Amino acid sequence: MPTPEPAGAPTSPFLKAGRKQLLIGGSWVDAASGRTFPSVNPSNGERIAEIAEGGAEDADRAVAAARAAFDEGPWRRMKPRDRQELLWALADAVQANFEELRLLEVLDMGSPIGRARSGAGPAWEAEVLRYFAGWATKIHGETLPNSIPGSVLSYTVKEPVGVVAAIVPWNRPISNAVWKLGPALATGCTVVLKPAEEASLVALRLGELVAEAGLPDGVVNVVTGYGETVGAALTEHRGVDKVAFTGSTATGQRIVRSAAGTMKRLTLELGGKSPDIVFADADLARAVPGAAMGVFTNSGQTCSAGTRIYVERPVYEEFVAGVAEFAGRLRVGDSLDPETRIGPLVSEGQLDRVVGYLAVGRDEGARTAAGGRRIDEGALANGYFVAPTVLADVRDDMRVAREEIFGPIACVMPFDSVDEVVARANDSEFGLGGGVWTRDVGTAHRMARDLRTGTVWVNTYNLFDPAVPFGGHRMSGWGREMGRDALDAYLDVKAVWVDTR
Ligand code: NAD
Repeated sequence: MPTPEPAGAPTSPFLKAGRKQLLIGGSWVDAASGRTFPSVNPSNGERIAEIAEGGAEDADRAVAAARAAFDEGPWRRMKPRDRQELLWALADAVQANFEELRLLEVLDMGSPIGRARSGAGPAWEAEVLRYFAGWATKIHGETLPNSIPGSVLSYTVKEPVGVVAAIVPWNRPISNAVWKLGPALATGCTVVLKPAEEASLVALRLGELVAEAGLPDGVVNVVTGYGETVGAALTEHRGVDKVAFTGSTATGQRIVRSAAGTMKRLTLELGGKSPDIVFADADLARAVPGAAMGVFTNSGQTCSAGTRIYVERPVYEEFVAGVAEFAGRLRVGDSLDPETRIGPLVSEGQLDRVVGYLAVGRDEGARTAAGGRRIDEGALANGYFVAPTVLADVRDDMRVAREEIFGPIACVMPFDSVDEVVARANDSEFGLGGGVWTRDVGTAHRMARDLRTGTVWVNTYNLFDPAVPFGGHRMSGWGREMGRDALDAYLDVKAVWVDTR
């Protein structure tokens, strides 16, 4: 069946090519069930592709292919330099096809297309792959002194953990995938990539680019389908050595339980409810838009979104008025419109969830200073749009202040002292990101020390770099993505003893 072309959309040859299959062992194949499910453009509710609905049998096939590529193939025995070259080639392919990858992301999950066009220079996701390509030649063990009598040599070698099931969400499909592909491939692991059912297209196109870049068959496999079926089958599978997961805390907990049966390695990048703290001495001209976009970017569908905004009382009302005015000016629209700053939510389910939280906030007594409603007028009638919303006078015990909403809702609360705000900011089951806005260098460093979060941004928010680790404390997860710290999670250490007599 030819894929219907979205009205007025830029074209993608990949999107036109029709029904999507699974990538297993270098071949594109239908799901064993023969079933498909639709990919829907959240800006207008139109179907844009039919995706293969993989199941347990497909998970078996993909793991067998990844296993064979790891156990028998050239990949992990390859000279580090050669693996580095192939990762560079993949980075180049991502760069060369970046416009198309972004288009697929935009159509599949609704992030505004203007975001990618705002800056020149290399695509960030290609840079992530290049960064990890560089590590391929720098992974080494150590020679260790021992106290054994005689002439006994002891040293360590770092080895890839094996087959990695990379299970990713829909909120940043390109980044979510390369954050896991980069370290997995640099260390010599093989991968079964399972994208979210809401946004599968990017992972499938990446599967094509992997082949074009010349990686051996079976090193990267892509299985699409639902989490409870194909995702769960991967986490239970005996042939999988490690699960690298990004998604909700509830799913992360399920994965911990199901991986226990085989004692798999796990890294978990989970949810957040991050505090962003504005001191009275902050430059409000920067803090207002900075904190606002810390929440509203990607329609609030960012794990590190700074959704709990604490503002020191002397500037509280001025900040609320400023951020409400800023939110009201953000242009909400179709993700393909270059002027759009805030696109739709990813799905009808996510829309219902976020609209539900708007009602919860009102019922709990929060004051709606901006937004507070679904936008379903005119051209946006069939899409999943929510106006950027500022809830003021929120209390710490309200559900909107404690639970991850994953939508464009900022909760603003006043505070009176540093000790108080540190205690309140840390009183969360999550510990992913944290922001501080101040001109006082002492306050900045004290907050950087005292916030119990995986990242602290000072006078900025949501900055990322391939060299800088990202991850969370407590129920925000285990392990780190990016940076040197990410590599260790894909490596085992072997100790070797040699009696040299
Ligand atoms: P989700 O947990 O529902 O799904 C994530 C992935 O897990 C999808 O591929 C899904 O199919 C799969 N899955 C679902 N159930 C599964 C199961 N039982 N076994 C195996 N796999 C299963 O999350 P979501 O709603 O798609 O994504 C939003 C969540 O992701 C938010 O909580 C957000 O904070 C989090 N997130 C975290 C980070 C981070 O780096 N910490 C980054 C992005 C998103």
